[in-house]
Amino acid sequence: MKNFALAGNPNSGKTTLFNSLTGATAHVGNWPGVTVDKREGQYKKLEEVVNIVDLPGIYSLSPYTPEEVISRNYILDEKPDCVINIVDATNLERNLYLTTQLLEIDVPVVVALNMSDVMRKSGDKINVSELSKKLGVPVVEISALKEENLDLLMTEAYEASKVKRVGKTIIENKDLSHLIKDVVIAFKGKGVENPLFHAIKLVEKDEIETSNHPDLIGMVEEFKNTFEDDTFGNDFEALIADTRYKYISKNYSTAISKNPANLDSNHQKVTKSDKIDKVLTHRIWAIPIFIVIMFIIFHVTFSEDILFMHRIFGLNITNPTAINFFTGMGYEGMLEEAGGIAADVALEGVPSIGVFLQSWFGWATGSLIDLVGGAMPEGTWYTSLICDGILTGLDAVLSFIPQILILFLFIAILEDSGYMARVAFILDRAFRKFGLSGKAFIPMLSGFGCSVPAIMATRTLENEKEKNRTIRLMTCFSCGAKAPIWALLGAIGTWAGMDGGLFVFSIYVGGIAVAIVLALFMKLFSKDTYVSPFIMELPSYHLPQFRNVMAHLWEKLKHYLTKAATIIAACTIVIWFLSNFSWAFWNGMVEDIGDSILADLGRGLRYFYYPLGCFENGWTNGPDSWKYTSSIITGLIAKEDVVATMEQLGLTVETIALNGAAAYSFAVYNLFTLPCFAAIGAAHGEQKGKEFWLTLLFWFAMSYGISLVVYFVGELYVVALWAGILVTIVLIGLVVAAGIIVSRRHKKAEITVQA
Ligand code: GDP
Ligand code: MG
Repeated sequence: MKNFALAGNPNSGKTTLFNSLTGATAHVGNWPGVTVDKREGQYKKLEEVVNIVDLPGIYSLSPYTPEEVISRNYILDEKPDCVINIVDATNLERNLYLTTQLLEIDVPVVVALNMSDVMRKSGDKINVSELSKKLGVPVVEISALKEENLDLLMTEAYEASKVKRVGKTIIENKDLSHLIKDVVIAFKGKGVENPLFHAIKLVEKDEIETSNHPDLIGMVEEFKNTFEDDTFGNDFEALIADTRYKYISKNYSTAISKNPANLDSNHQKVTKSDKIDKVLTHRIWAIPIFIVIMFIIFHVTFSEDILFMHRIFGLNITNPTAINFFTGMGYEGMLEEAGGIAADVALEGVPSIGVFLQSWFGWATGSLIDLVGGAMPEGTWYTSLICDGILTGLDAVLSFIPQILILFLFIAILEDSGYMARVAFILDRAFRKFGLSGKAFIPMLSGFGCSVPAIMATRTLENEKEKNRTIRLMTCFSCGAKAPIWALLGAIGTWAGMDGGLFVFSIYVGGIAVAIVLALFMKLFSKDTYVSPFIMELPSYHLPQFRNVMAHLWEKLKHYLTKAATIIAACTIVIWFLSNFSWAFWNGMVEDIGDSILADLGRGLRYFYYPLGCFENGWTNGPDSWKYTSSIITGLIAKEDVVATMEQLGLTVETIALNGAAAYSFAVYNLFTLPCFAAIGAAHGEQKGKEFWLTLLFWFAMSYGISLVVYFVGELYVVALWAGILVTIVLIGLVVAAGIIVSRRHKKAEITVQA
């Protein structure tokens, strides 16, 4: 079996090509860090099966980032039969920088000129045969997205893999070439493979080579003493980089002919994307636009009063049939007694598509459970286990599928269109002041999906401290599994004039605000405030591809369903047991759930959480309090379990009796507290020893503290909305003030350095 590796810059389309070739549905993302590990699949259309490896995106083969090290080691150590170098044809010159380094390795290389569809549209042309002649390797024009020329690419790569190729360099600086040749000879003498590549890296004084070949570094040092370049002195790394760029623009640019219409007065390329970016990444409007987009998404997914038709325009729907249609309510009893319509249900406003679908989906699964329950003997323990335990828990989890799918549909569209990459960019500009780079923000953005991959993505941060900070802030970004909690609390009622959509929106925005403030404090109190440089190229906007969006949704749904079927189901059984048996479980099931083991555990914990909801209608006050504390326990297993447990214990939209402050306090606690075990495991993988335990402590202290503040402020002002607004204003004020202080300090520091 042959082994081909895909190597190229981030966003050049490696993962898209990988998916098209192997039929896989790996995640296609628009920002660095999406592919940190390599991924493998098979291409079967040649006479021989070819194993394909999708390497992480890199700009060079230097050893500065984990991506670079992974890709470099793979190519050097695993010796693939061919390296397919994906090059973004719309950005040829910058992409070829990596190509010039790949060509120095003794490995067959084929260049895939990707995005040829975009190039064609723009009217630019690349002379493929000229480029191929100059590079000395085959070049194939492809479109990974439109699946054009992929078989041709694979045939070329297959042919190339049959022939041995010796590395070649474009470095032509006379003196340097001399030195490189000498080092190559020395390497050959030592029997080192890929002598040319290693020689050049050693001349660049790359850390890996220097530590591997300390005996040869003397040669380079000696040469350095006799050498001085006009611009770069004896910084060989910079000199070599410059040589590459100069060579590329001198020799390869002639292969491109640009459409004159794409050049503005400065002969810069102006594309449609640039025009869109003028608006979406505008200095002032970018963040408001982002907030509006997020608001619309949450409104359409979670609001019970779409366009605020009830609240603002006073719309009331009183026609029972219409109500039943919109809510799925009133049909609930239909299976038993036809026509059992609850005529007194008054619907205030029209529900959003998310709420609408959820009602109907909930009605369907609910009816199914009734059907199963009706067919089983009454009063036995196994009927109880299946109906009250497994099915009820599953129902709670499943009923949120419509809303989760709609939310992720929007996110997938934003991601695939290229907008999410802008969001990272916009936020980088703003957050740099608070000690976070756009690079750190990328894992955080993924945190809205699932904390597990998000925490794993912090691997792309070079600085240990920045990485720790990022992991600790992760729970500020509400992961998908927490969405059911917000949806449930949002559905309870209108507190202080808020509806479900606003409530959910405020949770998400509040989380971000807290993250900003905490990041700032961490920066103020940390001695080491190094922030990774943010290098990212913004992909051009394009219409989201149906296939990508669906693949993304399917991935999320599969993830959710697998969890529902395994961990959550198992947990539900345990919870069923704990809630149906007393400590003397041999006596059989308890009549009243209040006598159960779970109730006792919850009651014990209640004292611990008491301050977070101790007044009237608070969650630690009253007979239901142990149910809330119990669901916090099960939430550790999976965040979906919080709602599943609440439902199982009888806390539903109809029965939850919390006021606004208490609901916020409970929500906020669940938002910031320890994530599920899987995410805790991921954090353990990224952090060692003390740092990991500090992270756990941080999560716990943060959630307890913020929840306490929210509850007391909320109770004090009674109207939770106003409390929320106030807190937000104070937070923003703090951020701005601290931002000013920090930037002043910075300026001072700069001045002192200069002086
Ligand atoms: P990677 O970072 O190299 O793995 O790049 P991805 O595969 O994640 O692709 C980055 C973006 O470019 C995605 O939005 C893709 O849909 C898009 N893309 C990839 N290949 C093509 C192509 O041939 N044509 C066009 N128009 N877009 C592409
Ligand atoms: Mg990728």
